[in-house]
Amino acid sequence: MKISDIGEFGLIELLKKELPENLPAVVKGIGDDTAVLKINNDQLQLMTTDMLVEGVHFSFDYAKPWQVGAKALNVNISDIVAMGGTPTFATIAIGIPKETDTELVRGLYKGIGDMACRYNVSVVGGDTVSAPVSVINITLMGVAEVSKVIYRSGAKPGDAIFVTGSLGGSSAGLYHLQNPGYLSHDDIVQEITELHLVPLPRVIESKLLSEIGTVTSMNDISDGLASELYEIGQASGVGCQVYSEKIPINQGAQTLAGNVGKDALDWAFYGGEDFQLVFTVNKDKVDQTVQYMKSRGKPLFYIGEITEKSMVIIDSKGNKQPFHPKGYDHFSQG
Ligand code: ADP
Ligand code: MG
Repeated sequence: MKISDIGEFGLIELLKKELPENLPAVVKGIGDDTAVLKINNDQLQLMTTDMLVEGVHFSFDYAKPWQVGAKALNVNISDIVAMGGTPTFATIAIGIPKETDTELVRGLYKGIGDMACRYNVSVVGGDTVSAPVSVINITLMGVAEVSKVIYRSGAKPGDAIFVTGSLGGSSAGLYHLQNPGYLSHDDIVQEITELHLVPLPRVIESKLLSEIGTVTSMNDISDGLASELYEIGQASGVGCQVYSEKIPINQGAQTLAGNVGKDALDWAFYGGEDFQLVFTVNKDKVDQTVQYMKSRGKPLFYIGEITEKSMVIIDSKGNKQPFHPKGYDHFSQG
């Protein structure tokens, strides 16, 4: 059996079987945005890791070293905030080809350093090796209060589904970087490429949502909305229905999609790396949640509901289509 036959999720399931039982302090192991470890009766330790590989996740042809470093830390911070947590300490492992100019690595670290400063993260160690292409792997810890942590597994039928902001901008940005020349507006180019190259984690939204305590499940949108909803569905044992017309699509993505004959909804629903949050709210707490966020300058976008089972997207004419996680699967073929 090849890895491409079973995909990324199948591979992780296979590997899990080789590992021993977790220690008692492990509240949540594999299967959420971060691991959750018990410190004491009030506090939890969060832990996550993410790797970026040159030629797979980024290219120095279009990304500046500063941007790669900034993104490498931000994608990890996004996983911590997807649990309602606060990032704290990071270690950084890099693999770098021997001929690399030291200025490039300095740029990478300036990007990491600037985001560490912005989000109050201390870098406390790492590892440096020679490698055929540049690789950067960050492990990030965080903290959350026991009563405020938000898992993927708490969604219940009837819960409303929200996202924190517009989607598809990052995929459109990547499309533009790889196929330039279809956009005449510099401000759109600037916005969508920035969304792809240096996504900003939804730190404030996460803090507010964990404080209000009405959120039943949450995920950050790293692999595409369809994929993240699928993960919530799997972890919570529920289905969902999403209204395509309600999904907030980035304006620039719509312009570019129109220019190149693509459907911006595909970028918004299946495209990855927007790093907005998708979450569910108990149906009796919807108004309270929407008002609370609105009054703090963070509008929410309602996109559908949690159901008993099956994942469907409903178009403007009311047609229901089942959907599957078509987001970025690292080992799928095509
Ligand atoms: P996310 O999209 O939030 O970054 P992933 O889809 O990368 O999460 O991973 C899904 C789950 O599987 C996470 O809990 C992650 O920690 C775990 N996981 C991923 N790869 C491995 C691996 N090689 N070994 C053990 N656990 C893994
Ligand atoms: Mg995640």
